[in-house]
Amino acid sequence: MGHVFPRHTKSKLPTAVAGDGCYIFDQNGKRYLDACCGAAVSCLGHSDQIVQEAIKSQTDKLSFAHSGFFTSEPAEALADLLIANAPEGIDRVYFVSGGSEAVEAALKLARQYHLERGDDQRSHVIARWQSYHGNTIGALSAGGNKWRREPFMPMLVPMSHIDPCYPYRDQYEGESDEAYGLRAANRLEAEILKIGAESVSAFICEPVVGATMGAVAAAPGYLKRIREICDQYGVLLILDEVMCGMGRTGTLFACEHDEVAPDIVCIAKGLGAGYQPIGAMLCSKGIYSAIENGSGFFQHGHTYQAHPMACAAGLAVLTSMLERDLITNVRHRSEQLMNALTDTFGQHPHVGDIRGRGLFIALELVKDRDTKEPFDPALVIHARIKKAAFELGLMCYPMPGTIDGKNGDHILLAPPFIIEDQHIDEIVDKLSQSFSMLDELAVT
Ligand code: PLP
Repeated sequence: MGHVFPRHTKSKLPTAVAGDGCYIFDQNGKRYLDACCGAAVSCLGHSDQIVQEAIKSQTDKLSFAHSGFFTSEPAEALADLLIANAPEGIDRVYFVSGGSEAVEAALKLARQYHLERGDDQRSHVIARWQSYHGNTIGALSAGGNKWRREPFMPMLVPMSHIDPCYPYRDQYEGESDEAYGLRAANRLEAEILKIGAESVSAFICEPVVGATMGAVAAAPGYLKRIREICDQYGVLLILDEVMCGMGRTGTLFACEHDEVAPDIVCIAKGLGAGYQPIGAMLCSKGIYSAIENGSGFFQHGHTYQAHPMACAAGLAVLTSMLERDLITNVRHRSEQLMNALTDTFGQHPHVGDIRGRGLFIALELVKDRDTKEPFDPALVIHARIKKAAFELGLMCYPMPGTIDGKNGDHILLAPPFIIEDQHIDEIVDKLSQSFSMLDELAVT
């Protein structure tokens, strides 16, 4: 033991040996409540028998058949089920192995779509600051998380970034939510005009921003205005629902809430719910037809795309989620969790904002609640809270504030869709104990 290259080379991690419902157990039998599903992944919890059986049964039939030679039954069935429940106009599913791959495929498909139509000028991508789209070079270039980008800047592809929709820090005093949504969305139009619409291929954003900002949902009307702007200038709209999709925010696709249909949507995480690595890029009929009636070949691909085992797991996850109506449970438990967090932390001097949608909720931590001044990044508040909570047997997802001080440290909660009353009590209780350090830190 000892040859695995971990993310954090200086910390010694426990070994996860078992999972049961909302809990993970380590080698010493210690139990951890998974209040963040790792990173919004394990939406069905850790021992879903339907999914486990589906994987076993697929192993007995066929483990792998390369997608250059064959399609497979689970891939076809999963694509059909996704399309039957997808936003209007979405018609095709391109399976990959995770979120970054889905984003890479989306960026390249957008470019190829324009090329197939004889428009070779459109290649520029516009994204947003404080977003996360993955860690591969294309996805990292689109991402707007400065500390992740900085070490790799010389390798990144030039893309432009507009400010995000972030009511807590960006909405003017007295400005209505709708007026703010419109103002924030119009930044896209300004950027398109600055670049020159004829060069712009696509705009990419997360309908509910996950990791980098902590469950920040688009303001009312924001995405509708974004859709209008994209249509007006011939720019494709890519929604990254890798973290917020697959029921997490209380609708299967997060954009259903905003009544907006994208041209391309990326999903992953909850699609395989951690039982298998799988992601997907879904696109409209129009985009697919441009390829089908043009070169007939999407110039992209991965060895493990549409892997039968991964698709069998995804099919069982989605079927189970729909048959058990777990998305209704997400909405119900969301209200309960939000109320419990507000009761406990609503007046906490260092909790600036409690926000989110569905079972995708974050607390933004600040040094001063009135001025919204973030903690000094050197205090690594997010990491200390994660550590304290983990010691108490609670997993929560921490993120640092931005290096330019534009948002504070935050803690993201994204529990399994099967959580019950006692889990909510345990989350709030253990989080509360972990937060006790904040009082001391604010004084120093
Ligand atoms: N897009 C979003 C919105 C994400 O939150 C993530 C991962 O957290 C990704 C893309 C990248 O997904 P993966 O880590 O599976 O490559």
